[in-house]
Amino acid sequence: MSKAASKALAFSRSVLTWFDAHGRTHLPWQQDRSLYRVWVSEIMLQQTQVATVIPYFEAFMTRFPRLSDLADAPLDNVLARWSGLGYYARARNLHKAAQTVRDQYNGIFPTDFVDVLALPGIGRSTAGAILSLALDQHHAILDGNVKRVLARVFAIDGWPGKSTVAELLWQYAEQLTPQKRVADFNQAMMDLGAGVCTRSRPQCELCPLQQDCLAFAQQRQTEYPGKKPKKAMPVRETQMLLLCNASNEVLLQRRPPVGIWGGLLSLPEMPMDDDVSLWCKKHLGFVIEAQTRWPVVRHTFSHFHLDISPVQVTPARTTGDNIHAMSAMEGAEWVWYKGCADVGGLPAPVTQLLAKMKEVSV
Ligand code: SF4
Repeated sequence: MSKAASKALAFSRSVLTWFDAHGRTHLPWQQDRSLYRVWVSEIMLQQTQVATVIPYFEAFMTRFPRLSDLADAPLDNVLARWSGLGYYARARNLHKAAQTVRDQYNGIFPTDFVDVLALPGIGRSTAGAILSLALDQHHAILDGNVKRVLARVFAIDGWPGKSTVAELLWQYAEQLTPQKRVADFNQAMMDLGAGVCTRSRPQCELCPLQQDCLAFAQQRQTEYPGKKPKKAMPVRETQMLLLCNASNEVLLQRRPPVGIWGGLLSLPEMPMDDDVSLWCKKHLGFVIEAQTRWPVVRHTFSHFHLDISPVQVTPARTTGDNIHAMSAMEGAEWVWYKGCADVGGLPAPVTQLLAKMKEVSV
């Protein structure tokens, strides 16, 4: 026997010995075990914990004791029995799959892996679970609980939603699944993940895999499995104008009622590729003689970063037009900010920039 095979054998023996002492054998779908009952339980368990599923499973089986009862029932009745379990696509798929079995397989649930996998709502792990738990067929499973156990025991880095990580986990799952007692082994792996190797507080002292567990050896249990990588947030850029009048007041502009900082006063803003001099002439009606660009200020919203490039401008003093234009700029849209709090809320980065302006002008 190869080293890998004997390791796998030792692994499955530990798991099965633990199962004989601690595994769950009294779950409702483990009694009167049939493909139909195991299938319904596996679909219910896809997003829901065992304790929640049990009463729903029992009520469902009372209402739809046979696959034909489910297939022939109106969808609304099926959804009514599902009410409270959530993720209703599962119920719709269950109903559709029952009708497929009725129409294509003469009402007898298929026993071939490929046929089971082709039914609506059944993926690779669920197909393996149904056939192994109901018929002891040799199939590996890889639900969320099993992923966690394997990722920890073998210290498998990376997020299991990534195909390369998932494929590695499947390889381990396949290698470790024993030839005999597959149903017990798969049930044990699910039970271990649900009750011992839990997400945040694994009870390693009770675990039959502790001796071989790399995550335990490194005391890095909760680092596995790897988390879903956060998407890089998009960055938007804008320019904000810093303009003071002779009384050291800063020009603010009321923002449109919708969009970010809707309705608040803010510094006048313009797109990054706008020329500041032209923009001032066009929108404010005066000429500037100097501009100084300040370092970028980043403000982070829930779904994007806003990089603000502040530009301090000095109006030309040569024409009467400038004085006239600036003093006329008071009203609903434009406000000369006097440094007091009577303008309502200001966006946080604007407050920050105004404070900096005050420092500079002191
Ligand atoms: Fe999980 Fe701890 Fe067991 Fe490792 S030793 S599989 S971390 S419970």
